[in-house]
Amino acid sequence: MSACTFPAVRIGTESLNSLEHKTAVHAAASGELVAWQQIASAAQIDQAVLAARAALPEWHMTAPALRGALLQRVAALVEAQRESLVQIQMQVNGKPRFEANCDVSDVAACFAYYAELCREGDAFASAPVPVPDTSVAARRRYEAVGVAALVVPWNFPMVTTAWKLAPALAAGCTVVLKPSELTSPAEHALFELLNQAGVPAGVVSLVNGGAPVGAALVAHPMIDKISFTGSTAVGKQIMRSAADGLKRTTLELGGKSALIVREDADLELAVQLAIGGAFTNAGQMCSATSRILVHHSLYDRFMKDFQSTVQALIVAPPSDPTSAMGPLISDAHRSRVQALVEQGIAAGAEVAFSGQLAGTVGSGHFMAPLVIAAPDEHNILWRDEIFGPVACVRSFDNDAQALAIANSTAYGLVATVVTESEEAAAKYETQLRAGLVWINTPQLIFPQVCWGGLGASGIGRELGLQGLRSYQELRHAVHLTTG
Ligand code: NAD
Repeated sequence: MSACTFPAVRIGTESLNSLEHKTAVHAAASGELVAWQQIASAAQIDQAVLAARAALPEWHMTAPALRGALLQRVAALVEAQRESLVQIQMQVNGKPRFEANCDVSDVAACFAYYAELCREGDAFASAPVPVPDTSVAARRRYEAVGVAALVVPWNFPMVTTAWKLAPALAAGCTVVLKPSELTSPAEHALFELLNQAGVPAGVVSLVNGGAPVGAALVAHPMIDKISFTGSTAVGKQIMRSAADGLKRTTLELGGKSALIVREDADLELAVQLAIGGAFTNAGQMCSATSRILVHHSLYDRFMKDFQSTVQALIVAPPSDPTSAMGPLISDAHRSRVQALVEQGIAAGAEVAFSGQLAGTVGSGHFMAPLVIAAPDEHNILWRDEIFGPVACVRSFDNDAQALAIANSTAYGLVATVVTESEEAAAKYETQLRAGLVWINTPQLIFPQVCWGGLGASGIGRELGLQGLRSYQELRHAVHLTTG
């Protein structure tokens, strides 16, 4: 990709350039300039929301099956453009090829799933509601909530966008999307495919910019629904802003998730899941299992194997086909992560071991994976979301203690348990305070299975039927029957 300029606003096929400022998008693995993007002005944000409002009456009246056909075309186009979409994620985020490839599969699967829900139709059909009075009939139906503002982060740019766009369009909402200013080329590429698939003008618009643009968009009086993925701090600001207009909100926020290795765990599997949970996407995952709890009887063996596996991880640019971990998204983010590590160490945390950088890392924003042993429960590295390749390991004596430690966080997004005992697995599944619990599996995500957290990890659910419902209002009617 050459350093092209992305327009401030895209409404259907129309591109609006801004007379105001522009910012650069850099490649995370090299720091090189990828593109310029123009930042949307207040007037342009208004224009995008008005276009979405104007397109709403016709779009939400289309038959669900027609919307489904369109979503299916998007899924097919994503598959057809797989290689170029993979390249964008490798270039902008610096993801290793296999991770970028998984992201594209996830996007295609999400559009295909909501296409199928639209085709089946049950999720949209009006249905009778039994009431204990034979002189009346009650019915319920679901209706599009209206114009949705979608605000997404940079860590899985196309994926978090698909999780919002596909159900919103399936529900009959029109949307204005604000990607992260660090990774917007991914969403511009997706927008191109939506256009090719035939999304009517105004149904999806995109505005470029950072926090001020996001804040102006969600505060716009004609927005009915906000779906936000990002930090807990910004999620709280958005909730306050939404209160004024009583806007519906879905918030997918941060996490500080646990991976629990029981005494009966398959050690090799446990190490594999610890690597995937802590260092996929260089640890820049809301679902990072950065608190690893290991039964004391396995602790030393686990640490030994974890160390050799971490030290064998190839941290390299995506141009290196052996790369297993890429860079952090920006120099500023790497400095933030390093400052948190220094703060944790100054407060007593001890580095158990670290990985190494390949010789090819050059001037990208790379950081070697780092493992902290037995930090104090109040240490910032144990307590706060770091959003980088930093894992903390502590030991535990019994299940009750492991559950208590795992649950002693304000967050509640995901958790992983490694155990051979079905009984123990059932106990952890019900007693871990998390939106999604994986037992002996990597972080598998299916569009059929809802995503979302408890407590400080957010409000509402994405994916699954619930993901569709989050873009619908439930309405009822009660009629006098003639019989
Ligand atoms: P962020 O909160 O800084 O920004 C997220 C998005 O919100 C960006 O597009 C940003 O420009 C915009 N934004 C920032 N301030 C805003 C404001 N006041 N009003 C409206 N929009 C605003 O987060 P980030 O640094 O881009 O991403 C990292 C965070 O995202 C982490 O905390 C991570 O856990 C979270 N995340 C959560 C999930 C999930 O599914 N729960 C998934 C991915 C990332």
